Amino acid sequence: MKNNYSIETKCVQGGYTAGNGEPRQIPIIQSTTFKYTTSEEMGKLFDLEASGYFYSRLQNPTCDTVAAKICELEGGTASMLLSSGQAASFFSIFNIANCGDHVISSASIYGGTYNLFAVTMKKMGIDFTFIDPDCTEEELNAAFRENTKAVFGETLANPALTVLDIEKFAKAAHAHGVPLIIDNTFATPVNCRPFEHGADIVTHSTTKYMDGHGAAVGGCIVDSGNFDWMAHAEKFPGLCTPDESYHGITYAERFGKEGAFIYKATAQLMRDFGATQSPQNAFILNLGLESLHVRMARHCENATRVAKFLESHEKIGWVNYPGLESNKYYELAKKYMPNGTCGVVSFGIKGGRAAAEKFMKALKIAAIETHVADARSCCLHPASSTHRQMTDEELTAAGVPSDLVRLSCGLEHYNDLIADIASALEEV
Ligand SMILES: *Cc1c(COP(=O)(O)O)cnc(C)c1O
Repeated sequence: MKNNYSIETKCVQGGYTAGNGEPRQIPIIQSTTFKYTTSEEMGKLFDLEASGYFYSRLQNPTCDTVAAKICELEGGTASMLLSSGQAASFFSIFNIANCGDHVISSASIYGGTYNLFAVTMKKMGIDFTFIDPDCTEEELNAAFRENTKAVFGETLANPALTVLDIEKFAKAAHAHGVPLIIDNTFATPVNCRPFEHGADIVTHSTTKYMDGHGAAVGGCIVDSGNFDWMAHAEKFPGLCTPDESYHGITYAERFGKEGAFIYKATAQLMRDFGATQSPQNAFILNLGLESLHVRMARHCENATRVAKFLESHEKIGWVNYPGLESNKYYELAKKYMPNGTCGVVSFGIKGGRAAAEKFMKALKIAAIETHVADARSCCLHPASSTHRQMTDEELTAAGVPSDLVRLSCGLEHYNDLIADIASALEEV
């Protein structure tokens, strides 16, 4: 699709153009395998000499179509779908960092990502330094080591709603010859395109706003094509030296900086880990993407109105929404997300943990769920659910105090949402 189309048009029509007499909606290629007339033809696919499909664990046409749309939305050069956002975060790091390597991550990230990095990937021998996203440039630069391979952060952290200064992080990463990886799940490419601010790789949990209907778990990785792996070949042997498990291919030579990262992640990690998205889920994801731009605007409007209401309520201790002028991140949010942030608001009810639980029970529209970012409003108390493996100190460091309630404003009418919140607060 033409690059100069607006993001709205790309949401609706990106990634796929029907030929004459072909389906207008993207076809679901529900097939594990693909037929060839000769072994030589298939051999060329295995050698990555020709592009095509042979087994849906590695690649599937429906998934690739939807990945191509997200690639256009982010303004990247290559992309892939994965089974979940967790798989996307894992692949994005493991594609370039091995046992003995080090990665710097913002401390303000999704709880599942924190666990993946701090516990599971640590067991694999990859060491993470978690840094305050509001740190100075000096502090950030001081966190780098000889073996640092990447810097990771979230545009808009779930659930802390910290806004990352992407340019500050990109500058430090590039000064040390490593890429900046940004999880852009909460902002979505409709509200922020991290590549325009220096990020090199973007990841998504498509489970959230992209799908938007709470229907399909999924993930995505997009490469900007900007990071020059060969210029830092000593740091990235996996991309810059022959892969013996793939017929001696050198990804950065064969596919250039535009394609090397995604080719390696597909040919090597997807082959070995099989964290693939089903074509059916890719189809559902695409239905969500078609209205992403319309929905994001409404999620943001609802959240802004709810946040303002909460801010004026006597039973509310504090409100955190980067769209509020009183918010610490208001200026950064305006810079990186001028059209709005997201539909998630967090706040603390006076009376702490007990009051929060009473309030949530009394809500009629918002259900208690381990989920955010779908059409139906929902709420969560992270300290007693998603983040329960963390100590109080870790919770505070991650920007998730123990009294925090996360409310994901859906697409209902804001008058109904506010009335429901008001009557639930009366119960407290
Ligand atoms: C939900 C989420 C993830 C994990 O995604 P899953 O699809 O649940 O695996 C990663 N990052 C962020 C910011 C998320 O909100």
